[in-house]
Amino acid sequence: MTAILIDGKRIADEIKREVRVATDALASRGLRRPGLAVVMVGEHPASQVYVRNKRRSCEEAGIISSAHDLPASISEAELLEIIGLLNNDGAIDGILVQLPLPQQIRSRAVIEAIDPAKDVDGFHPYNLGRLAQREPLLRPCTPYGVMRLLAASGINPAGMNAVVVGASNIVGRPMALELMLAGATVTVCHSRTRDLAVQVGRAELVVAAVGQPGMVRGEWIKPGAVVIDVGINRLPDGKLAGDVEFAPAAARAAWITPVPGGVGPMTVAMLMQNTLEAYQRRRSGVA
Ligand code: NAD
Repeated sequence: MTAILIDGKRIADEIKREVRVATDALASRGLRRPGLAVVMVGEHPASQVYVRNKRRSCEEAGIISSAHDLPASISEAELLEIIGLLNNDGAIDGILVQLPLPQQIRSRAVIEAIDPAKDVDGFHPYNLGRLAQREPLLRPCTPYGVMRLLAASGINPAGMNAVVVGASNIVGRPMALELMLAGATVTVCHSRTRDLAVQVGRAELVVAAVGQPGMVRGEWIKPGAVVIDVGINRLPDGKLAGDVEFAPAAARAAWITPVPGGVGPMTVAMLMQNTLEAYQRRRSGVA
């Protein structure tokens, strides 16, 4: 392996420590700590793991988390009523609704019901629109985390040819917006892209977010490229793997993120950071 490994766990721990210092400082001034409402509907096994991680990270970062574990049978109207209560709750700065939601509930309606000032996932059209217009407020956690990984590694995307593989609303699209904001020349690939190998082969920076283990082949990677693997895939043997074929990619790349221990921990760290930011904006009345 020639690539330098980007240690997302270490960088995420640093961010959570910084948030902890800030929240402890609030508490020592007699102010309340930031509050995050974590809403989970039903018992999706992967969601349960993510939600547990988020609640544990809140403890580490000195953020008060409130758990709202709701039955899978809840109606959309009932869920929207709970969101409305959380929107008006002065002790809550961030509202996170774990996706996916059961079929009877439209995710779109739920995301749009969250007060944009408390939208710590950054999925509300207002926050995505602000990012698109180069004046971000609360930014989607995973792409924001990728940008922090790059910054912490001294990698400046300005002027780079960047290729994002995957175009979902929660990762690929906001990732492309973040990279454009940072001055990269961005190509977005998706399921209808022809000749992915050629697109990836041109990239000085590749971000893979597809959800298929090893689909980005190591031999496609341009020598010296930066490779960021967002994919989290559970293999039949129970191990986790990314979307990039790790060993052959690491032999060609200059920098690479591992799975696990790369982008994953950053997503949760940026959620803590966003909750602190939402608190600070609401307190100063500039939400
Ligand atoms: P998604 O299923 O919503 O989107 C996948 C995207 O990949 C789509 O835009 C699709 O067009 C594209 N795609 C599918 N086949 C393709 C192909 N052959 N060539 C090019 N593009 C193709 O998935 P998502 O929610 O964006 O998640 C992607 C991956 O990232 C998953 O493994 C998910 O678990 C992981 N993820 C990780 C984090 C994290 O914190 N690290 C956060 C969110 C998602």
